[in-house]
Amino acid sequence: MNLEELIRDVPDFPKAGIVFKDITPLLANSEALVYCADRLAQLCPIDVKIDKVIGIEARGFILGGMIAQRLGAGFIPVRKKGKLPSAVISKSYGLEYGEDVLEIHKDAIKPGDTVLIHDDVLATGGTANAACELVEKLGGNIVQCNFIMELGFLNGKKKLNYKVASLLGY
Ligand code: 5GP
Repeated sequence: MNLEELIRDVPDFPKAGIVFKDITPLLANSEALVYCADRLAQLCPIDVKIDKVIGIEARGFILGGMIAQRLGAGFIPVRKKGKLPSAVISKSYGLEYGEDVLEIHKDAIKPGDTVLIHDDVLATGGTANAACELVEKLGGNIVQCNFIMELGFLNGKKKLNYKVASLLGY
């Protein structure tokens, strides 16, 4: 399956000078959607039973949920500030374009839970690293971070202390 032709380059989004990799054509293609979820689930270590899949708001929710279903794991949303209804812990982090805060419910992960982190794109790594720190604070054991796409030239992998898997690299 040629996933690359389903990723659209959008110049100057969300700011001048940034070429945004738009995954919506891929999500709109039913075969590609199932293929990505199957492949990302297959790329998880087979020797560990994953308890929880973390999806990072918002594009990480889509395949994160599909991967959780395939692994027989629960799904946990990591969301932007103020979106989760119950008690949370928070982490602020630097973005490729700005600053933001991520939150997770305090009771979402139990100490010792095995956790897979999923997002659509790994760029500088700030977002995924913040999600990792939230999971670490709650005592979760991160098994892997996986992405549809890695923007290799931004070296995001270096920020993550865990195994990284992705379907596409740029
Ligand atoms: P990072 O924190 O690694 O710099 O940025 C990754 C986060 O920003 C992810 O949540 C991802 O959704 C979003 N992001 C950054 N650049 C792109 C891009 O080119 N395409 C898409 N789809 N998301 C991006």
